Amino acid sequence: MKMSNMYMPTLREVPAEAELPSHQLLLRAGMMRKLVSGVYTYLPLGYRVIRKVEQICREEMDAAGSQEFLLSALQPKELWEASGRWQDFGPEMFRLTDRNEREFCLGPTHEEYFTSVIKDEVKSYKQLPLNIYQIQTKYRDEKRPRFGLMRGREFIMKDAYSFDVDEEAMEKAYQIMWDAYDKIFTRLKLKYKVVQGDTGAMGGKVSHEFMAMSDVGEGVVAYCDHCDYAATDEKAEVVYNVLEDNTEILEMERVHTPDVKTIDDLNKFLNIDKSKFGKALVYKVAGKPVVAIIPGDRELNEVKLVNYLGVGEHELEIADEETIKEITGANKGFTGPVGLSKDARLLVDSRITKMKNIVVGGNETDYHLKNVNYGRDFEGEIVEDLLLVVEGDICPTCGETMKMDRGIEVGNIFQLGTKYSDSLNAKFLDEDGKEKSFVMGSYGVGVTRSVAAIVEQYHDEDGIQWPLVVAPYHVIITVVNAKNEEQIELGEKLYKELISLGYEVLLDDRNERVGVKFKDRDLIGIPIRVTVGKLAGENVVEYSLRDSKDKTEVNADTVKELVLDEFVKAELK
Ligand code: ATP
Ligand code: MG
Repeated sequence: MKMSNMYMPTLREVPAEAELPSHQLLLRAGMMRKLVSGVYTYLPLGYRVIRKVEQICREEMDAAGSQEFLLSALQPKELWEASGRWQDFGPEMFRLTDRNEREFCLGPTHEEYFTSVIKDEVKSYKQLPLNIYQIQTKYRDEKRPRFGLMRGREFIMKDAYSFDVDEEAMEKAYQIMWDAYDKIFTRLKLKYKVVQGDTGAMGGKVSHEFMAMSDVGEGVVAYCDHCDYAATDEKAEVVYNVLEDNTEILEMERVHTPDVKTIDDLNKFLNIDKSKFGKALVYKVAGKPVVAIIPGDRELNEVKLVNYLGVGEHELEIADEETIKEITGANKGFTGPVGLSKDARLLVDSRITKMKNIVVGGNETDYHLKNVNYGRDFEGEIVEDLLLVVEGDICPTCGETMKMDRGIEVGNIFQLGTKYSDSLNAKFLDEDGKEKSFVMGSYGVGVTRSVAAIVEQYHDEDGIQWPLVVAPYHVIITVVNAKNEEQIELGEKLYKELISLGYEVLLDDRNERVGVKFKDRDLIGIPIRVTVGKLAGENVVEYSLRDSKDKTEVNADTVKELVLDEFVKAELK
């Protein structure tokens, strides 16, 4: 492509709305533009990268024996009612009604739809295993669309679904997809970790997330270097050992704590360690109050809470002051488990039941209670683990200290079981002629999010540094002075030669100052660069790579070999 004719609206200024490097650089490099919050237009350079990421997904899915479909984004309500997710997806689902008042959604994912597609045609165990996929646009009305391609309301996903005769066969299919994802993310040059994930609204018990490691990632991972345990903070099991305490169980005491509302204030006021407090968190779940009591030195994990309650995350809200007053009779900040209104459901983290003589809110404004003990003073629903993991927690597998890091969830695989086949009545006849539900798995790669993740891992202060495998073009030839015959001639010659060898090449033949050309080429991040300048008459050009400061003067005839070397190094040839 000749840049004199290319649609590449680069920006010098950092767009005010963009916080993350990937968001800023994809806008600045003229790769995309925003339509409305969370919805983007892919411009030519950006779309080339997206298509390359799609193609890598396609090749690895095909190689793993999966077959490509393309389903509609528009899906009728009935499919989602059957699985219960018309309700469960809540406000994240884009819904619409046709002229005949029939309701639809724009698919946030396709478990129901794929299941319904195959169920009338796959009737026998002989047709299994089956693995099918698509690369398609998804719609989710995210609460906080942000960070450009990272969290869009419209985004491209590669989604796959497996159908098997039993759990064991499904586990095999799961492993095949895991391996395919390893290949995809390795080819994309992402530095990533595979971690246990929460299954959430998807259903099923086992899931793994592929996390591209990045300080700006929205995901948090707890992992252990001593064994291979790794999980998202939503999922990570918390080992919280209550210290052995031989003190007597003491008489409960009411203490005046005027205006002392937070655990920190209480810690200062009473001079008692936070681990001796029972912290109360008040929520409204589907309109009903729920109080959770956890050790005072920890935070609550809301995903564990909604999983225990069996509701969607969107059904959980922090209770307002009025609700708090109704169930405690007190202002906010003094909620506790003793004497709480029966209208509130009381959940107790299991560690609280092992702690002695704790301090809790008194359900009376400006009062707390000391020496409160589970069993004697209150009872509730005991929940094994409601805690959020923190740095330094003990690994649940080997007992060593864990570390924490941030990551971008670029892929997610799920063992679904029969949730969708049961609810959509998708059955086959097994070897003994018995009717059985398909045992399913589902597997997603965030295509557009992966593009953002690559930029997060590959950029510097001047712009993007695309790995060769996904770069919009492989080589950029910059003609320093486009009005100089010798320079333009040599530039064109190299351009044609490299194209004829199958490389994707940009020729910067614009009548621009050379500084502008260099700035643009840094910004758009083309990996291999050839500069045709003053020495063109001697058939000499400058050769450099985007991710290195080295420049060398080389004979123009050797450029094709140097480019080939880069392809060999990148294992692309
Ligand atoms: P998240 O937890 O980040 O909201 P999710 O777990 O809801 O994502 P999945 O249902 O697992 O997402 O979707 C499969 C993949 O699609 C994700 O791993 C992610 O890479 C991508 N993805 C999900 N939501 C978005 C989004 N809003 N924008 C871009 N990509 C997304
Ligand atoms: Mg996910």
